[in-house]
Amino acid sequence: MPKTIVDLVILNAKQLLTMVPSESDEEGENPLGIIEDGAVAVKDGKIFAVGKTNDVLAQIDFKKDTVQIDADGKVVMPGFVDPHTHVVFKGTREREFILRHQGVPYMKILKEENTGIISTVRWTRKAKFEELLEITKKHISEMIDWGTTTLEIKSGYGLNLEEEIKILRIARYLGEHSPLNIKTTLLAAHIIPPEYHMRDEKYVDLVISDIIPIIAKNGLADFNDVWCEKGAFTREQAKKILRVGIKNGLIPKVHADEMSDAGGAKLAAEVKAISADHLTYASEEGLEKMKEAGVVAVLLPVTTFSLGKDKFADGGKMVEMGLTVALGTDYNPGTSMCPSMPLVISFAVVRLKMDIVSALYGATLNAAKAIGLENEVGSLEVGKRANVNVLNIKNYEEIPYRIGENYVETVISNGEILKGGPNA
Ligand SMILES: [Zn+2]
Repeated sequence: MPKTIVDLVILNAKQLLTMVPSESDEEGENPLGIIEDGAVAVKDGKIFAVGKTNDVLAQIDFKKDTVQIDADGKVVMPGFVDPHTHVVFKGTREREFILRHQGVPYMKILKEENTGIISTVRWTRKAKFEELLEITKKHISEMIDWGTTTLEIKSGYGLNLEEEIKILRIARYLGEHSPLNIKTTLLAAHIIPPEYHMRDEKYVDLVISDIIPIIAKNGLADFNDVWCEKGAFTREQAKKILRVGIKNGLIPKVHADEMSDAGGAKLAAEVKAISADHLTYASEEGLEKMKEAGVVAVLLPVTTFSLGKDKFADGGKMVEMGLTVALGTDYNPGTSMCPSMPLVISFAVVRLKMDIVSALYGATLNAAKAIGLENEVGSLEVGKRANVNVLNIKNYEEIPYRIGENYVETVISNGEILKGGPNA
């Protein structure tokens, strides 16, 4: 068989996590599909071959500028997928973070001047497209540094048509002009903007009759999300907004049951959302319904930590129930200035009671499912996008164990090296 010339190859990995269990592994002894002394070859931004180093070498040929990365003694795995972020914003809220931990309740902070989501809305509205784009690029470069190659980006700091368009255009621009894979979500129903104070229904009308149809018509969003919570949007309002989204071709997502059991999980099942996110207080019934409807559970433990709460979502139970459980950073200026999926994995193991295998799926393939990209990213398979991380650790169990340490040495997205490389 003639050999194929490839663009890039990673060789000699101590553990190569494919996230594809082998068919012969009937006992489930290798759920992460680990190949020892593994290699992955890349051509035209896609994975051309995966396997033992010798088997991959037998299939490929080199040209003068084929990049060779030696992963001897290291772990190689799919690029992280972050399925829940609010990265397009201006202004940080460190003072509020400190206040909160001096005992001021979060919902009270939200209502105060110069704190809470509203303050981010004010700053973000004032920022011009170019400025906001540059800020967002910085946020994303932090995420790349931690091995994220695919992410979802929500709007929700504009809260009027013009400003939501600005934010989603930035998200789309980054998807088109960077080697990352980006999906976008309209979150016009984040909270009620200040100019609609005490006029909730008027704002819901604006979202339904103006914002959703125009955003959808202009192809600016893939998903439509609502924060269903006391102080944000009621279940009835959320349902209305999500249904109008569906009519306009936007797939529903729900910020569900974060602070209380507001029926968000059930609602997500009812509208057949692709994911329900947070779920700290989701009822067992709600979770059952989500499972039946095939809704992915997206858990965001850093937010719970940042809020100083003791109660975390019960990820372990959700896994046991058979739900598809994904993990995200929830990167946002209020409750999670955290770009790191490895840190999220640490939290998942320590506080969400998830086993290491589920946590790693949560940060890769299951996260891809939460944004409809499971056929393109999230595992190392021939034909998928070449999104690959080389980790400077000797086995995958060190991923949650090395809390807050950045061992992500090389990051490759769509075949392009974004961090590290042959001489890392
Ligand atoms: Zn969120």
